Amino acid sequence: MINPIKMVDLKGQYEKIKKEIDENISQVIESTAFINGPKVKEFQAHLENYLGAKHVIPCANGTDALQVSLMALGLKAGDEVITSPFTFIATAEVLGLLGITCKFVDVEWDSFNLDVAQLEKAITPKTKAIIPVHLFGQSCNMEKIMEIAKKHALFVVEDACQAIGATFIFKNGEKKKVGTIGDTGCVSFFPSKNLGCYGDGGAIFTNNDELARKLRGICNHGMFKQYHHELLGVNSRLDSIQAAILDVKLKYLDGYNVARKKAAEFYDKMFENHPKIETPAISSFSTHVFHQYTLKLKNVDRKKVVEKMKEAEIPVMVYYPIPLHLQEAFKYLGYQKGDFPIAEKLSESVVSLPMHTELTEEQQRFIGEKLIEAV
Ligand SMILES: *Cc1c(COP(=O)(O)O)cnc(C)c1O
Repeated sequence: MINPIKMVDLKGQYEKIKKEIDENISQVIESTAFINGPKVKEFQAHLENYLGAKHVIPCANGTDALQVSLMALGLKAGDEVITSPFTFIATAEVLGLLGITCKFVDVEWDSFNLDVAQLEKAITPKTKAIIPVHLFGQSCNMEKIMEIAKKHALFVVEDACQAIGATFIFKNGEKKKVGTIGDTGCVSFFPSKNLGCYGDGGAIFTNNDELARKLRGICNHGMFKQYHHELLGVNSRLDSIQAAILDVKLKYLDGYNVARKKAAEFYDKMFENHPKIETPAISSFSTHVFHQYTLKLKNVDRKKVVEKMKEAEIPVMVYYPIPLHLQEAFKYLGYQKGDFPIAEKLSESVVSLPMHTELTEEQQRFIGEKLIEAV
């Protein structure tokens, strides 16, 4: 009998690093430095070093990282920001909350990421920024996006919540970690993310000193000097226990991403040349850290496939079943069915298989066989 299959196996991962994690947590408890303790500073420094980023500003979650970025860049109601309709709602939700108009641009079929060829025609005099989303673990075409942003004087806020550790490769061979290329990069440490804590957490990256100061201030009620509030901010902190956990797991991040890639390659082989299953395409300019292993199903009833997988006790997920421009919450933007045909077709075709650091080949073989049976 094989072990029960989970979409993400956080327990199995914890068991291998239990001693280090428990020690680090207990140090925080003993110290009682629960908020802004030394563990937060240590993790911040280690992450800056890992990324090659000048500043890491820890915060409470990935959604806040996006919101605080937009606030620090001075974006306000009435401005326009361009992003993808094929992402988790948080990316566009923060725009709506700040009164910023969200302008969607369709994605590419192969990479699930913003179609840079369509980006420029969405720019208007009101456009202030682009939010590229590095979906499922690989980078958007950041070289092209930065070129367009420079030409039109736009800010770039990278939503790197699903791609921490992935590398973008420039045409001249230069490499940068995703999230360190735009004005800011945003990540989430939600437990199931590639670098996840045991609660909520997030961070903002930037190489700009002045912007870093502002981001830090906004995360702390707009306070730059104690009880002097220069502007309105929010309360968004990474707590010390989460930082202590992340500081342990950061050491293993590259190893975790290698394990994910290996699992992806195993799946790829199983579905190679299958007429009804399209495996993920890897962009030439980015490494892939496989936050999700997402297939496109062709000429099949996806609902039935998902049901059959559930019957076989294999959890599978549909990320994302409704593109953002067709969500009830964004009705006010006035988009209609047919506006972003690729995002719409993807939302009808995709299915994500279990993907985590503890998958065994035996489990993967079982998942693959059942999927081939189901289609
Ligand atoms: C997870 C995620 C977020 C939000 O992160 P939270 O920490 O849950 O707030 C934003 N964007 C994308 C693409 C995500 O996957």
